[in-house]
Amino acid sequence: MIAYQTILNDIFSDIKNTEDRGKVASYIPELGKIDKDKFGMHLIDTNGRGYFKGDSEELFSIQSISKVLSLAMALGLVGENLWQRVDVEPSGDPFNHLSLLEQENGIPRNPLINAGAIVVADILVTHLKNPKEDFKKFICKVAGDPHIDFDPKVAKSEKETGFKNFAAANLLKSYGNLKNDVSEVLDFYFHQCAIAMSCTQLAKTFFLFSNRGQCMQGQTYLNINQVKRINAIMLTCGFYDEAGEFAFRVGLPGKSGVGGGIVALLPDQFCVATWSPGLNMKGNSKLGMRALEKLTSDSGLSIF
Ligand code: GLU
Repeated sequence: MIAYQTILNDIFSDIKNTEDRGKVASYIPELGKIDKDKFGMHLIDTNGRGYFKGDSEELFSIQSISKVLSLAMALGLVGENLWQRVDVEPSGDPFNHLSLLEQENGIPRNPLINAGAIVVADILVTHLKNPKEDFKKFICKVAGDPHIDFDPKVAKSEKETGFKNFAAANLLKSYGNLKNDVSEVLDFYFHQCAIAMSCTQLAKTFFLFSNRGQCMQGQTYLNINQVKRINAIMLTCGFYDEAGEFAFRVGLPGKSGVGGGIVALLPDQFCVATWSPGLNMKGNSKLGMRALEKLTSDSGLSIF
């Protein structure tokens, strides 16, 4: 048996006095207000047992981590047809770059860059009766927690400053790869990114990707092949243009967000969430990456 709690305690002592914690994202003004000294971590093993440390119960903005959940929901709704509108190749570019989108005729490189997530948001807006409410309920059900909600201040803050996302959505529209109104799709997208969750809630939610599509409550949401696809995309595209570095250092599929959260998982073994708001130059949580590198190094567990 792996002594997860001991490893988490060691990680915490290793990072707690670190001076250089990176920079909090400020391009969404509301995110710029978060205290850089926060650090939380929650790991759930394959038996559903939880291990945690630090600010693991504190809510933060999950941002791009939500893209995995919208993808899971959309895949459940439209199945493999989804891949006609979004590709599955890493972009090697920052999350908000648009040049490839023009070159590749409005088909985003993958569902975890902004343009790809906006297409997935469009699919959900088409298929859901009350898109924002239904998406939130989906997350609450998977997490087994009815209290998960949007942070309206963060959604508003991003709407006021999300010029590049407006540009991406308009480009997609010009290529015929956005079926609904730009404003409606972006309202959904800004809200999905503004979901607030704790490390505990995130680990519980992502448990299904480490457990062959079955959530902690025993309900199956995805089949084994859909889980394979989503985990493969997380591994190759989950960390902006640092996916190679994350695979090299940590060796797990995962997803980060500019709110400083990271979730990662080892199929049939564990699912883990970290939160430290300071980001490195590539937009990934600096201490989160360090913590996860130590987790896989100390436990000797990774997909490789
Ligand atoms: N809502 C953010 C944006 O679209 C998500 C960025 C991220 O977490 O990568 O800019």
